[in-house]
Amino acid sequence: LQNDYLRLQEEKESNARSYPRHFPLVISRAKGIKVTDTEGRMYYDCLAGAGTLALGHNHDIVLDAIREVLEQEIPLHTLDLATPLKLAFMQEVFSILPVELRDSTKIQFCGPTGADAVEAAIKLVKYATKGKSILAFQGSYHGSTQATIAMSGNLSKKEQLQSLLPDVHFLPFPYEYRCPFGMGGEMTAKLSAQYIENLLDDCESGISAPCGVIVETIQGEGGAIPANLEWLRELRRITAERGIPLIIDEVQTGIGRTGCMFSFEHAGIIPDVIVCSKAVGGGLPMSLVIYKEELDQWRPGAHTGTFRGNQLAMATGLATLRYIREQSVLQNVRDRGEQFKASLNELKARFEDIGDVRGRGLMIGVEIVNTAGLKDRLGHYPPDGALAAAIQRKCFEHGLIVELGGRHSAVVRFLPPLIITEQETAEVLSIFEKSVIEAIA
Ligand code: PMP
Repeated sequence: LQNDYLRLQEEKESNARSYPRHFPLVISRAKGIKVTDTEGRMYYDCLAGAGTLALGHNHDIVLDAIREVLEQEIPLHTLDLATPLKLAFMQEVFSILPVELRDSTKIQFCGPTGADAVEAAIKLVKYATKGKSILAFQGSYHGSTQATIAMSGNLSKKEQLQSLLPDVHFLPFPYEYRCPFGMGGEMTAKLSAQYIENLLDDCESGISAPCGVIVETIQGEGGAIPANLEWLRELRRITAERGIPLIIDEVQTGIGRTGCMFSFEHAGIIPDVIVCSKAVGGGLPMSLVIYKEELDQWRPGAHTGTFRGNQLAMATGLATLRYIREQSVLQNVRDRGEQFKASLNELKARFEDIGDVRGRGLMIGVEIVNTAGLKDRLGHYPPDGALAAAIQRKCFEHGLIVELGGRHSAVVRFLPPLIITEQETAEVLSIFEKSVIEAIA
C-alpha cells in the first residue's frame, strides 16, 4: 500500500516538491515527537514541520483547542472580522513580546505562510520609508514567492526569475566557521559590521535608499548558523543611527525555538519589525507581522487577502503560546539544546567528518565535512553534502527524520518539538551516532 501511495506521489505530484523526495514514507499517525507510517514503522520527527510543531504532533491542549472551536460553533472563517478568539489571540501575542514592544506595536495578520508575512513586512517598510532597495544577507532564506526568493541568498532558486525580483543588496552574514573574509572568530562579526556600515554610507551618498534590512538571527535553511550577539547589537545600532527599519525574520526562530520566546532577545535588541509564522499558529497555517506603530503608514486596504486570521489557527496558536509561557517550555529548550550540543561535540571530537556543531536552543546544526578535501585557510575541510545525505539516509533507516541545510546541503539540522524529553533526546542522539558511524564506514 505504501508503495502505491509513493508511486502516485512520484508520478502525479509537482516536480518542484522538496522534502517528500528524501523521505519515502506515508505517515498515517503522529503523536508527540513520533510519527508512524502506514506500515507501522515509527520515526522520531526532528523536522517537525520545519520547526512548526512547537508542542509536537497532536498535543492534547492543541486538540482540546480545536474541539472547543467546533463545539462552540466559533466561525471557522471570518475574513479578518473580529471574534473573541481573535482578540484573545492578539492579547496573547502582545503579552509574549518584550515589555518595550507591548504598548508601541501593531499587528498585521497575513496569509497562511511565512513568505506571506515577509512580503507584507517589505511592503510595510516600503510605504513607511519610501526606500526602494532591500538589504538582506548571504545564506538567508525568507520564502519561495518572488520577492522572498529575491531576498534569499540561495542563487539557484532565482534562475529565470531575475527580471521580476525586487532590488536587493546582499551583505555578508557572520558565519564564523566559513568566514566570508577568511578570518573566523570575533573578526568575522567585526568585519561584517564594518562592511554593512560602509555600504550604508555609500547608500546615503546616492545609491537607491534601502527600505529596510531583513535578517534571521540564526539562519535556518542556511545551515543553522547563529549570528554573533554582539554583531546583532551592532546591526541594531547601525540601522537605528540611519533610520533604517530592522526586520527580524522570526519565522523559524520565533516562539521559543531558541530558548527565548523571540530569538532577538538573546542579544537584548529591539527590532522595528518582527515576522512570525510556523509555531505561532500552533501547527496550523498562520503568519503575522508585528511592527512599531510609527511604521503604520500604509493606507487602509493596502494589504488585503481572503485567508488571514484563520480562526482554528488562532485557537491552536493561543493554546500553544499559553502553554509555552506557563509550562517552563523555554527552560526545557535550553536544557535539551545543551544536551544535544554536549553529545554532538563529543561525536565531533571522535570523528573529523563532523566539522562544526552549532545553534541555539533546539535549532541545531552539524556541518559535515570532506576529510579528503583541502583545508581552507581557517583549517576547515570543505563541506560534504554527499556524506551528509548518506547520514540522513542512515538516520531514516534507523527511524529518525532530520533535514539538511546550508550551502551544498552539508548541514544536518535538528528542529525537534520543544517538548522533547531528556530520554527522547538521548534516543535521537544515539540513532544519530549509529548513523554517522555507519555512513562513514
Ligand atoms: N523565513 C524563514 C526564516 C524560514 O525559515 C521560512 C521557511 N522555512 C520562511 C521564511 C518561509 O516560510 P513559508 O515556508 O511558510 O513560506
